Amino acid sequence: MIYVDTLILGGGLTGLSTAYHLQKLGRTNYLLVEKESQPGGLCRSIQKEGFTFDYSGHLLHLHTPYGKKLVRELLANNLRRVQRNAWIFTGNSQVPFPFQAHLYALPEKERQLCAQGLRHLPTKLPSNFENWCLQSFGKGIYELFFRPYNTKLWGVSPKYLTCDWCGPFVPRPSRAALMRSLTRKPSRPIGYNAWFYYPQSGGCGALVEALAKRVLNLRTNLRVSQIDLHRKTARVGRKMVQFNHLVNTLPLPNFLKLLKNEPRLSQLANRLQAAPVLVYQLAVRGKGKKFSWIYCPDPQDPFFRVGQQSSFSPNNAPSDCRSFYVELPGTLQPGKTLEKQIWTALLQKGIITRCDKKLFSFWQMIPHAYARYDKNRARTVQTIADKLAVRGCYLAGRYGNWEYSFMETSLLQGRETARKLVSTEVL
Ligand SMILES: Cc1cc2nc3c(=O)[nH]c(=O)nc-3n(C[C@H](O)[C@H](O)[C@H](O)COP(=O)(O)OP(=O)(O)OC[C@H]3O[C@@H](n4cnc5c(N)ncnc54)[C@H](O)[C@@H]3O)c2cc1C
Repeated sequence: MIYVDTLILGGGLTGLSTAYHLQKLGRTNYLLVEKESQPGGLCRSIQKEGFTFDYSGHLLHLHTPYGKKLVRELLANNLRRVQRNAWIFTGNSQVPFPFQAHLYALPEKERQLCAQGLRHLPTKLPSNFENWCLQSFGKGIYELFFRPYNTKLWGVSPKYLTCDWCGPFVPRPSRAALMRSLTRKPSRPIGYNAWFYYPQSGGCGALVEALAKRVLNLRTNLRVSQIDLHRKTARVGRKMVQFNHLVNTLPLPNFLKLLKNEPRLSQLANRLQAAPVLVYQLAVRGKGKKFSWIYCPDPQDPFFRVGQQSSFSPNNAPSDCRSFYVELPGTLQPGKTLEKQIWTALLQKGIITRCDKKLFSFWQMIPHAYARYDKNRARTVQTIADKLAVRGCYLAGRYGNWEYSFMETSLLQGRETARKLVSTEVL
């Protein structure tokens, strides 16, 4: 039996940040366990034949002074600021992102549809994401972009989603600005990701590596397989760990299923749904159009977004090459047939050309990529968090809290969790 004050589950960005901030508060009596051989979770990067790949795109959106300060401390000179160059490819049109701020780029018929929708914005509809879009943007914009894109990404119709995630993610210009965008470009870039930060070298993984180096009690290759909240013990690898406090950053349904003799909590796991994402990573030799990422809402395209990894830093690929991450609904089966469909669509859209020579490709599956904001999510997560908090167990991070959030949120929640842990200590 190992005894620790705090056991932190999961050595991704949130677990690492929690450990780092506990140390900063002078507490080292913790153990951080990670099942993989490398820490970092979804923020790791993969080095392959001179290329650097992230788990699809992982760009640093830093919106708080502390988030910026911490990342600058961790990455020092290994940080660059990049301007977004993002598009929506729909039908034969190429519209700059965000769609709703660049309606002038649409053909006449589609523009008229959007204008008509904006003239008749509905009000007082029941609250769901579909109605939020209709009220904010009108039917034309919803049908041309928001409905098809979000149906692909979330795997369900927007009418089954709530809108409590939209705030930071979906730019919502005023009606006057939407009307203006029918005829002219906005005067300034719009949205949380107009500029973003990215490591000069090492991909997003450079950030978690820098953090992991500063964390004292991280143990990798250790999987937690059972947790007893009454006895305050966990089976970790082949050992038992006794703890006072527990911090969970694992995907919440997975964590609940590890709980011993907690049938009510374990059952709540079934109420939490996720949209999985399949990623097709591709390296080609050939110089082509440079872009950050492209949204592809049209149902006939198998993917919903394509990012150009090599555009984020010149160190992500050899100078005569480019690399891409192609994001697809995780319900699709990876294999030759799907690969052929991807290539056909990429060529047809001009994202790659016949001059590009494929060097290699590989697949990644992210099973819990997007916690689904359906009608059960908020209440279920709150019930679980309340029941766990009274037993000294805290939830943190995008998957621990079962939410849609940024890497910066992971860093900040790590600090917040460390502070909570210290404030609840019995002195
Ligand atoms: C497709 C996609 C794109 C994204 N792009 C961006 C972006 O551009 N910008 C941005 O800010 N954010 C982005 N994010 C969000 C970002 O990935 C998360 O906010 C962040 O990775 C969350 O870190 P975490 O530590 O909470 O979770 P994870 O990274 O999931 O870490 C959890 C860790 O727990 C470990 N673990 C699991 N089970 C066990 C077990 N039984 N025992 C021990 N260890 C276990 C896992 O191996 C993992 O290391 C993106 C997410 C996705 C899915």
